Amino acid sequence: MDKILRITEKSGAFRAFVADTGSLVRYAVKIHGAAPTAAAAFGRTITAAAIMGLDLKTKDESLSLQINGDGAVGGIVAVADMQGRVRGYIENPHADLPLRADNKLDVGGAVGNGHLTVVRSLGHNKPYVSRIELQTGEIAEDIAYYFSVSQQTPSVVALGVLVDVDYTVKNAGGYFIQLLPNADEQVISKLEANVYTLESVTDMLSRGLSAEQMARELLLGFDYTVLMEHIPQYCCNCSKTRMERALISLGKKELEAIIVEDGKAELNCQFCKKSYLFDKDELEKLLKEATD
Ligand SMILES: [Zn+2]
Repeated sequence: MDKILRITEKSGAFRAFVADTGSLVRYAVKIHGAAPTAAAAFGRTITAAAIMGLDLKTKDESLSLQINGDGAVGGIVAVADMQGRVRGYIENPHADLPLRADNKLDVGGAVGNGHLTVVRSLGHNKPYVSRIELQTGEIAEDIAYYFSVSQQTPSVVALGVLVDVDYTVKNAGGYFIQLLPNADEQVISKLEANVYTLESVTDMLSRGLSAEQMARELLLGFDYTVLMEHIPQYCCNCSKTRMERALISLGKKELEAIIVEDGKAELNCQFCKKSYLFDKDELEKLLKEATD
């Protein structure tokens, strides 16, 4: 079952998030029709955004991860809120590369070189934007790098998506561990040892482990508390009104051309693929609101 646990170590040495996002990623991959390599890149990004969104302070804020690499998948965007609701977009969902020599999906190759931008939108205020260079394009390492450079928080980030032979997502999830100023050398080396001996996220999920059980293995020997449980969900905020605004923003000339040439318009939401139809009468009404 999909779940993200927010965990804190009892002495305040670190905090952690452990996530099972199988259903969320399966749904996201299905609506975008993503091929295996693209699905893995997309699912990792969606999972990371769902976790990072939980740190937002108010319901009006959103956290977006934008990956812009020069690889075959093109841009990837995932937007999340503090309740674990997330939506995403992948520019080239059909991108698929041959497996790597170790039989793993070549996510780094498909993402390529470029940047990761983290945008925290605070309602009507100016968004907080932070940008780093992609380290490997494998997403998890890039996010760990973002935390260490932009947030000065040493972190361990693991993300995994297992894609089946029929292209469906078998499982997905991940974990973040973030060291707090209280962490001493002993804690750090024990965490390192745990992470080093731990199986991959997808192997643990394939064994049928729940988020709680993954946390137990990851944090073996530590005294910790699960502060909160969140159920992540794929959720879009598109509406006919938003689409109307998009059409109005095209401007008078463009709208007039659509009315004359097509007499109607169909807009598809890039996040959920829902389609919105506008007939001639509706377009003419919007034209009155448009400017040159
Ligand atoms: Zn939508």
